[in-house]
Amino acid sequence: MFSSLSDSLDKTFRNLRGVGKISEKNITDALREIRVALLEADVEYLVAKEFIAHVKEKAVGAEVLKSIKPGEQIVKIFHDELAELLGGDQVPLQLDGSGRILLCGLNGAGKTTTAGKLAMRLKREGKKPLLIACDLYRPAAIDQLATVGKQVDVPVYTPDASETDVVKVAREALTWAETQNGDVLIFDTAGRQEIDERLVEELKRLHAFLDPQETLLVADAATGQGAVSVAKHFDEAVGITGIILTKLDGDARGGAALSMRSVTGKPIKYAGEGEKLDQLFEFHPDRMADRILG
Ligand code: GDP
Repeated sequence: MFSSLSDSLDKTFRNLRGVGKISEKNITDALREIRVALLEADVEYLVAKEFIAHVKEKAVGAEVLKSIKPGEQIVKIFHDELAELLGGDQVPLQLDGSGRILLCGLNGAGKTTTAGKLAMRLKREGKKPLLIACDLYRPAAIDQLATVGKQVDVPVYTPDASETDVVKVAREALTWAETQNGDVLIFDTAGRQEIDERLVEELKRLHAFLDPQETLLVADAATGQGAVSVAKHFDEAVGITGIILTKLDGDARGGAALSMRSVTGKPIKYAGEGEKLDQLFEFHPDRMADRILG
């Protein structure tokens, strides 16, 4: 995912370490290179600009330049700022109340797969998740969730194919859930190719009815800044509590992961890194920064 960004950073930092005595100009030149690398990785312009300004402010401090290994210090400053940009601390799911999780996102982002992955994770953590199909537009989506549920051995609520009212489905699903003894309810919702009014209206109704503890946007990292703008839209519509970024295993340039937190103010809680149902990982900003720096 971040290979090209990592390569550029590696080159810049290697050059910086190779300089006998680092001057402010060396740092400014290095940061200029890094800024270009961030923009090439599809990081939003203002995010990249502000990020570089922060790093510079810390890196040109007299103590850093006078230290024994200024190059190392600058890498550390960069690492810490990167972790901060990615969200700082890992933000866990809040599930100590109703346990209702609403998954939303565009078609193809990975919602249904992620619903299965999340159910599998929660089950391993000792929870009793249930899956609920609320995509009434694509019968295939209901079948897909049923299949995923079977694979992870989690009960799935599948509405009748003729149902059109998503709130009615949710109400019936809640009654069903009471008979299943579950403690986390994962609602998989309909998507679209793009955000449209109908999608937003339906999601708002469902959200208002369920009052979920977590409203998680499933966003495809491969769509770069598109993923960030989708997150902003969904957040304005229903108020998301976090993001699950999928397809981090692909060759996307990483801009979505890097800009997401800063632009939306919402934490990335999980990352999907493959099609298999055990390939969902907690998103740890610190570890991600390690990975980017290689
Ligand atoms: P939905 O339309 O949002 O429900 O998306 P799906 O769950 O049907 O996923 C769309 C495609 O993306 C499927 O082929 C999934 O296997 C694939 N997919 C989902 N998550 C990931 C991921 O993290 N990595 C990769 N490589 N593929 C994924």
